[in-house]
Amino acid sequence: MTVAFERIAIIGLGLIGSSVARVVRKHGLAEHISVCARSPETRQAAMDLGLADTVFSDPEKAVADADFVLLCTPLGTYKKLAKGFASSLKPGAIVSDVGSVKESAIRDIGPFMPEGVAFVPGHPVAGTENSGPYSGFAELFKGRWTILTPPDGTDPKAVEAVTDFWVRSGSMVEIMDAAHHDLVLAITSHLPHLIAYNIVGTADDLETVTESEVIKFAAGGFRDFTRIAASDPVMWRDVFLGNRDAVLEMLGRFNEDLSALQKAIRYKDGDALEALFTRTRYIRREVIEAGQADPDEAPADAD
Ligand code: NAP
Repeated sequence: MTVAFERIAIIGLGLIGSSVARVVRKHGLAEHISVCARSPETRQAAMDLGLADTVFSDPEKAVADADFVLLCTPLGTYKKLAKGFASSLKPGAIVSDVGSVKESAIRDIGPFMPEGVAFVPGHPVAGTENSGPYSGFAELFKGRWTILTPPDGTDPKAVEAVTDFWVRSGSMVEIMDAAHHDLVLAITSHLPHLIAYNIVGTADDLETVTESEVIKFAAGGFRDFTRIAASDPVMWRDVFLGNRDAVLEMLGRFNEDLSALQKAIRYKDGDALEALFTRTRYIRREVIEAGQADPDEAPADAD
């Protein structure tokens, strides 16, 4: 099988970057992987794990000669990185990213891309709560969606090449407008994370229930929130700052619906509660049928 790109540069080797490097190695998607990593520990890990042919601390050196540059760092680093490596990109190179918010990625990277370089923003909708180069695995993208949000005028051949890369990494690809991506992800990913951070924080602040009780009886539902709330603080700080408007819009809707639930409980409106819970159970079945959740994962708690 031919390579997808001769030379790939991966900037940032955390959960996503190292999973990309693993999948590139596993399926032979590139002849050469150059990795740019910030800390000496991560640069050492890149070599120890065999995920890089060359390792750099300097992004400008890492992108030189690369056909495909993939930014895998937190969103808040994009502008400085793109500005720094732009002049070292080779003509004809394709730049992409994996960031969880797309309008801010386009705003922070797009203006620095030189003539003759295509920028195809992307987001693999796949992840875990773990971080760092040792947390990645080659199957992370298998059966998951990658959303590409090329701005108007992006070279269709570059979009095709990035699509092919993700398909060969095991992913399914959908092309979408960046603003729409941000709205969809606000409800499917960003708000659930915010709720998890909030509920775990509230439990931690309670005075009438001890911390040891919260931990001891976590299997009552709290446990699933703690998994999500263990996600990387820097990455998620940047997601909420980057997708501020869409998250605030969804949070407004969420608060209204929560108030309705509060009212149903207060006025003992069991029918309203049961109707909602029946509807949401059906959504879970649809997610499983779409292959986006494992029916055997996290068995329902009987509490
Ligand atoms: P991660 O495991 O925390 O890794 C982040 C990587 O970026 C690390 O290699 C880190 O370097 C590097 N980095 C951090 N700040 C940097 C800076 N200022 N300059 C240069 N490098 C820097 O994060 P991740 O989960 O892979 O997330 C990376 C990107 O993927 C984010 O944009 C996120 O939105 C997106 N994403 C994440 C998920 C998910 O579930 N985690 C899913 C889809 C997309 P060191 O190792 O040296 O600290």
